[in-house]
Amino acid sequence: MRIRSTACVNAILHFFYPSYCLHCDGSLAKKHHLLCSTCFELIEWIRPSERCTYCAGPSPCAPCKGFPRPLRPHLSLFEGCGPILSLYYHFLKTKQGKDLASFLLLALSRSSFSIPDAVVPNTNKLFPKKEPSYLLARSLARLLKRPCLLPGPALQDKSVLLITDVLYDPRVLLEMKRHLKGYFPRKITSFVLIDYRA
Ligand SMILES: [Zn+2]
Ligand SMILES: [Zn+2]
Repeated sequence: MRIRSTACVNAILHFFYPSYCLHCDGSLAKKHHLLCSTCFELIEWIRPSERCTYCAGPSPCAPCKGFPRPLRPHLSLFEGCGPILSLYYHFLKTKQGKDLASFLLLALSRSSFSIPDAVVPNTNKLFPKKEPSYLLARSLARLLKRPCLLPGPALQDKSVLLITDVLYDPRVLLEMKRHLKGYFPRKITSFVLIDYRA
């Protein structure tokens, strides 16, 4: 019985803290790491200077040529490929947003954006608290010691950082920004963790 429960605990620990790299199955330097150092170095940040100045999409940007759809102030952090996807799938499985939220925090500290008054998840689900955007926004809010707020009157006069986990279509994000403006925040900036536009 005792052995079985130990095995069970180990299985759970292994699920949350796998002892192999999530991306290449290689061994890890430290048990709590999720990626080996090689895969970690393969994570490539999107360089904003190489993207469309209006919508942060791949440049040259055909949609913005005819009709600019400015997302800015906005940052897309990663393209949908490589080790970051392994981290993202792990996050979807474990619902632990802290590791990915630290990438968002790093991006914020490197950017010209100031610390927001509140973090807002990009979700319009009726029960949003299990949504990836919500889990990420909440983890980032904790790191920043700021509230995580859903769209509503509490946003009035606040600078808000809107968090989207994955982006396929910028119109969805624009629509959300338009919706948030209805609550009169002082400023809206947005971050997308993984931008699938290609
Ligand atoms: Zn690896
Ligand atoms: Zn564009």
